Amino acid sequence: MVRIQGVDKYFGDHQVLHHVDLDVAAAEVVAVVGPSGSGKSTLCRCVNGLERPDRGSVLVDGVTQPAEGRELARFRADTGMVFQSFNLFGHLTVEQNITLAPLRVRGVSRAQARDRAAELLERVGLAAKARAHPAQLSGGQQQRVAIARALAMDPKVLLCDEPTSALDPEMVQEVLDVLAAVAAAGTAMIVVTHEMAFAREVADRVAFMDGGRLLEEASPDAFFTAPRHPRAAEFLSKVL
Ligand code: ATP
Ligand code: MG
Repeated sequence: MVRIQGVDKYFGDHQVLHHVDLDVAAAEVVAVVGPSGSGKSTLCRCVNGLERPDRGSVLVDGVTQPAEGRELARFRADTGMVFQSFNLFGHLTVEQNITLAPLRVRGVSRAQARDRAAELLERVGLAAKARAHPAQLSGGQQQRVAIARALAMDPKVLLCDEPTSALDPEMVQEVLDVLAAVAAAGTAMIVVTHEMAFAREVADRVAFMDGGRLLEEASPDAFFTAPRHPRAAEFLSKVL
């Protein structure tokens, strides 16, 4: 579903991604882990088109990421993104947050968009909050709205960049539970996470990044019990 091939990314002279290759199959969940500054967010942003790779290519469902314009907008609509900081529109209701992009980009009718929003809010356990504004919700609830908003576009892949890092500890699990349910329903996902238990239980594969390089890809079992790369072993010794 996603094919990342030989992606290099520079910020000025600083190379932050070095020839990253990663494939994600349909319905597959890949957890991306690694130390701070290793390039995890930049990789997500390159897949979503928020950043442009300097070399290499990103394909989603066989379509190469276009350079710009309407084609890029369409491509980006297929790659839903959930950010650490929710990024909901504060002046809009929960329902409006969810229906905005389908109305504007997909051209669905208002009734269709609302029905779909209601269905998604039910799925993330927030059916009663359609008319609330983000400020009236807890962090965990806001993040669940952000997940519903991303899913409203029926993305071919859902990219989550540390979706629980900004949450109070008691709200982490409700968001992880929603993501696990999304994964179980068959959405391909790339999840950057520090939640090793989640990576272990929900991911089909773990990708370990360090210094802008993807150093190891393995099944969660293999990665957590017997990492092959010394840097992965060192990382795990600090976080487990
Ligand atoms: P963290 O776990 O702290 O979120 P990360 O693995 O997501 O880290 P990135 O945010 O992708 O890492 O950053 C990778 C490198 O790129 C870092 O050295 C960072 O300082 C640099 N970087 C990221 N975004 C920019 C930017 N917009 N301009 C310049 N440098 C950047
Ligand atoms: Mg990051």
